[in-house]
Amino acid sequence: MNRNWSTTAQILSVRQSGEDNRSVTMLTKDKGIIQAVLYGGPKSRLRSLVAPYHSGTIWLYTDEVRKSTKISDFEVLSYRSELRESLFKTCAAGLCAELAVKTHSGADFAETWLYVSSFLDGLCLVDEQESRIALLRFLWRFLSLLGFQPDPCHCERCGEQMCLISSSAKIFYSLHDSAFYCTECSMQYSDNPGFLLNKESVSYLKAVTTEKPGFVRNLKVQNETILELQDFLLHLIQSFVEGKLMSLDLLQRF
Ligand SMILES: [Zn+2]
Repeated sequence: MNRNWSTTAQILSVRQSGEDNRSVTMLTKDKGIIQAVLYGGPKSRLRSLVAPYHSGTIWLYTDEVRKSTKISDFEVLSYRSELRESLFKTCAAGLCAELAVKTHSGADFAETWLYVSSFLDGLCLVDEQESRIALLRFLWRFLSLLGFQPDPCHCERCGEQMCLISSSAKIFYSLHDSAFYCTECSMQYSDNPGFLLNKESVSYLKAVTTEKPGFVRNLKVQNETILELQDFLLHLIQSFVEGKLMSLDLLQRF
């Protein structure tokens, strides 16, 4: 049965398909990731509306026999034009979109919608430095959504509470075991590939998990910690996602 329907959607990517058409991937609030075709040449009014990160109400037509969906109309409620004003924000939004698509928006559409829309909206409100920290929070929370967030506060081997250790101690994350080890236990795994994190990095990750978003947004984070966590989290998220995340190469240069 063919049908017209509408939903709330944010556009994640738009690709050329044939001479005049475009293949559009979007995240919807109730059905997760869907793909639809946008027909029309360069003068089409819809073509300027259906662009990456625009969010609003979309009207669709699904042909059940051909298993195809086309876009009939789109009322944009948020353009998020700020995302195009900074290369870092564009890349961060790109990574967010890739993650939603490659993980099929996790298991929970509503949660994914919330994570993705609050991250993209948040990026529009902050400067570039704040957006770097926002990306760290988004990646750490997304790992939790996927069920891959490791526990940064307890040593996998001896159970030591690592959030209580001295500020000069380092904590080891083993890529082989997907687990954190305290300084002492990490000696056993010194030849394993992994990351050495400072205590501030681990405490910040813990705060993102346990504290309210408003509180965490106001925490001061040193530049050294931002760089360390960015390197760690970009690596970690790639290790849990099938296929290469194309936005990573650019983000790793910041
Ligand atoms: Zn230990």
